[in-house]
Amino acid sequence: MAESSTLTCEEKQHENVPVYEFIDVNSKEFHIGAFRDLWLDVLNPEVYSYGEPAPEIEDVEFIEEMGIEPKTLEELKSICRYNRETVFFKFYFCITYFMTYVEMMSVGKKPDNLRDLIPEGEIILTFNIMYPILFQRFKFVRAYQTLHVLGSQKLSDLRDAICCVSDLQVFGEFSNTPDMVPQFISKDHYKSAFFFFNGTFFNDTRFPECQDISKTTREWTRTRDFPEFKTAKMEDTSFYDLKMKVGFPYLYTHQGDCEHVVILTDVRLVHQDDCLDMKLYPLITHKHRVVTRKCSVCHLYISRWITTSDAFAPTDPCLFCDQCFRMFHYDDKGNKLGDFLAYAYVDPGTFN
Ligand SMILES: [Zn+2]
Ligand SMILES: [Zn+2]
Repeated sequence: MAESSTLTCEEKQHENVPVYEFIDVNSKEFHIGAFRDLWLDVLNPEVYSYGEPAPEIEDVEFIEEMGIEPKTLEELKSICRYNRETVFFKFYFCITYFMTYVEMMSVGKKPDNLRDLIPEGEIILTFNIMYPILFQRFKFVRAYQTLHVLGSQKLSDLRDAICCVSDLQVFGEFSNTPDMVPQFISKDHYKSAFFFFNGTFFNDTRFPECQDISKTTREWTRTRDFPEFKTAKMEDTSFYDLKMKVGFPYLYTHQGDCEHVVILTDVRLVHQDDCLDMKLYPLITHKHRVVTRKCSVCHLYISRWITTSDAFAPTDPCLFCDQCFRMFHYDDKGNKLGDFLAYAYVDPGTFN
C-alpha cells in the first residue's frame, strides 16, 4: 500500500475529490480546504464570479458562436421576450410554492456594507441537524434544521446557530416560589459542548466554565481497546481545516447528554444567487415545525409548567398554562394548596 508521503501530486489531489464509500449513502473522507483549492485551480474565475458579463459582450459571443447576423439576433430577441415573461411567471410561482420564507428572503441578498460581501470562491457547506436523540418520537428521522455554513467559519459558529430547546430549560423545583423562576436558562449555565468528527472531539472552550465533556467517553474507550481519540478546540477550527464525509452521521453534544446527529449534505462554491451577506451565516434555510403542547386543562394556551406527584392533575406528569397552574394550585393569597412538585416548562415549538 502506498504511504501518503510517496503519493504523487495528482494522486494526492484525487484523495480530496469526494467519491462514494457506500453508494448513495456517504462519501469517503476528504479535506474540505484542499477540495476547494482543487476547484479554484481548474475553474475559470468567471464561473464563480458574481459579476455578469456585459450584455453587449454576450451578444457578440452569441453571434460568433452561432454564426448569425446581428439582425437575426434582434429578431430572435423580440420573439423570445414574450416567451420568457410567461416562463418567468410560471417559474416564480413554482419557486414561491416550494421555497421557505427564509430562503426567499435570503436569495441573492447583498450586504449593506461591501466589507461583509462573501469573497468569490468561498465554499458553502450544508448541514442537517437532527432532533435530539432523546426526543426522537418519530418513526423515521426528519431533518430538524438545515444550515448553510461558510468554509472559513469556525465550528463554534455552527454550534451557536443550532437551536435546541434543551438550551432554554430552567432547572429547579418551584412549587413553593412560582414567582421566583430565574431568568437564567441552561445555555447561560452549561456552556460545554462538542462536535465529534472523524475520531476527534472538538470541544467548546471559549468560556472559563466550559469543561471537556468528551473526557468520560474518552476514558471509557481507553479501557476497551478503542484507538486513541483526539481533542481540539472548536473555536480554533474552521471547516477548511477538516476532513469530512458527505452523508455521514456525525455527533453534536451539548447540555451534558443532549445529542444531535449532524450530517453534511452538500459542499459547493458560493453562487451569485446565494445570500452574499457574510453576517447572515450560518444561514438557517429550513426549520422543521414542531407541534406545540397545550395546557391539559384549558387546551388553549401553550404550557408553561409541568407538575409531578400532583393530586389535582389528571396525569403524572401534567402540563399547565400559567393561568390554569396558578388557579388550581394556589389560593387567592398565593398560598400553595396540597402537595405537588412544579418545574418550568419550555415548549419545543418555541422556535417555530
Ligand atoms: Zn440539544
Ligand atoms: Zn390552561
